Amino acid sequence: VKEEINIVWLKRDFRLSAHDAFYHAIESHLPFAIVCFFEPSIINDKHHSARHWQYIFHSVLEMNEKLSQKQLSPVLCYYGEVKDFFEDLGKNYVVKTVFSHLEIGVQTTFNRDLEIKKFFKENKILWKEFKQNAVKRGLRNRKNWLPFYHEFINQPILNPEWEKAKNIYLPAFDNLKKSDFYKNILDTKYCFQKAGEDAAQEYLDSFFEKRHKNYLQNISRPFESVNTCSRLSAHIAWGNISVKQIFQVYKKAYLENQINKKQINAFMERVRWRCHFIQKFESEIIIEKQCFNQAFSNLKRNRDKTVFDAWSNGKTGFPLVDACMIALKETGYLNFRMRAMVASFYINILWQDWKWAAMYLSSVFLDFEPGIHYPQIHMQAGNTGIHTLRIYNPYKQSYEKDTEAKFILKWLPQLSKLPIELIHEPHKLTAMEEMMYDFRLGINYPKPIVDFENQLKFAKKEIAIILHSKQCQQEANRIKNQHVN
Ligand SMILES: Cc1cc2nc3c(=O)[nH]c(=O)nc-3n(C[C@H](O)[C@H](O)[C@H](O)COP(=O)(O)OP(=O)(O)OC[C@H]3O[C@@H](n4cnc5c(N)ncnc54)[C@H](O)[C@@H]3O)c2cc1C
Repeated sequence: VKEEINIVWLKRDFRLSAHDAFYHAIESHLPFAIVCFFEPSIINDKHHSARHWQYIFHSVLEMNEKLSQKQLSPVLCYYGEVKDFFEDLGKNYVVKTVFSHLEIGVQTTFNRDLEIKKFFKENKILWKEFKQNAVKRGLRNRKNWLPFYHEFINQPILNPEWEKAKNIYLPAFDNLKKSDFYKNILDTKYCFQKAGEDAAQEYLDSFFEKRHKNYLQNISRPFESVNTCSRLSAHIAWGNISVKQIFQVYKKAYLENQINKKQINAFMERVRWRCHFIQKFESEIIIEKQCFNQAFSNLKRNRDKTVFDAWSNGKTGFPLVDACMIALKETGYLNFRMRAMVASFYINILWQDWKWAAMYLSSVFLDFEPGIHYPQIHMQAGNTGIHTLRIYNPYKQSYEKDTEAKFILKWLPQLSKLPIELIHEPHKLTAMEEMMYDFRLGINYPKPIVDFENQLKFAKKEIAIILHSKQCQQEANRIKNQHVN
């Protein structure tokens, strides 16, 4: 007789506390195994890169340490497809229930979920999915979304009662370390934010205790925001902490009057936007492949590999853009304004395909969250027809947000020979100054890849033609009806 077991399938919820799937698995009273999948089909999806798998793996290592302290079995790291795992498992066990959170992912993970749903149904396996964000499947409009959000965020947290847990270890399935892929996980060339539940808690505590005090003043400053923004994005995206946990801390701090309310409210507003955007993506996952407003598909932007390489490697000759792109590669983080600027610069000023920007940025953002990423890419591209289009001027941003060029110099130290105005605008160097500072534009630092003002005029003209079309208006109305609260 085959043993009956349950499975907890970890997706983007790498934590042991405040975890609905664990809570219910423990309550079910059957032994359960915890599995983290490293699926070749998802690994090959270009949205992801080694930094994401490293982050997940390090989160699992921390979970295993905590599980071992509780004398419980570790998480299995399975390299292979989910369906193959369950087919093999079924040879020796009867899987009764799979517990996971409800993932709102890219098309590849959505397709995998559909395939697995069918497989589970055929094999009489119950799949219980729990909401991690205030997002409803198949929502047709936003009429009742805000009350739903408030109800969700106020729900009590379910903390698993680990002392009652009976989890099992299936060594035959713990095969990640034997796979060739494992070496990608070990490669830690860059210094990324530390993964895991403890690190998330530390960031949350330090933000609420102190770091939030200049949140709004610095939110768009690339140098300062690294410390004064919460830096919780990667932790939330991979589920080291949940939005409900953040809300509980907020409620307590608010009541105890321990915080600067204006600053923390602005932060909490963004935590709500997070759910708002993920809901948008859930209702229109097609925006991974096509423009939000279909009229903008008529814009023919280029796909130039040389331009892409210059942008992604920080070699456009626009110092703030280049510093951002190098910082991203090395740290996986940029604040909101800088993300908006590099995306709109690539799509509108360099006049390149938004899909290439979306794909590259998702692979380098440590906090890649499809539901925020795609709506934002379309907003910054101007592909919605319902938002005022802002095409950021990188020189203006540089003077305003990195006045002393601290951020630029951190990532482009070769500019340090120049006086401050020339660090912001090295293309203004005269031949005489080049000699004086022993600095050659085009050798020590690239000449601007395009003329900003000319490109701006061109982009505005092209976008205006679409904006005034009948198709664009019709699409804008459809978007408003479906997505605006
Ligand atoms: C083109 C583009 C792509 C983006 N892609 C992502 C992404 O893949 N993953 C991601 O987490 N954020 C993304 N953002 C939103 C935002 O830039 C980051 O969430 C933020 O910079 C993360 O830093 P933080 O945690 O210190 O933010 P904080 O300012 O401390 O904000 C707290 C949390 O609120 C949420 N949040 C913040 N800003 C927004 C926003 N504008 N919309 C929705 N939620 C928000 C995030 O979960 C964030 O962790 C993108 C923005 C742009 C312009």
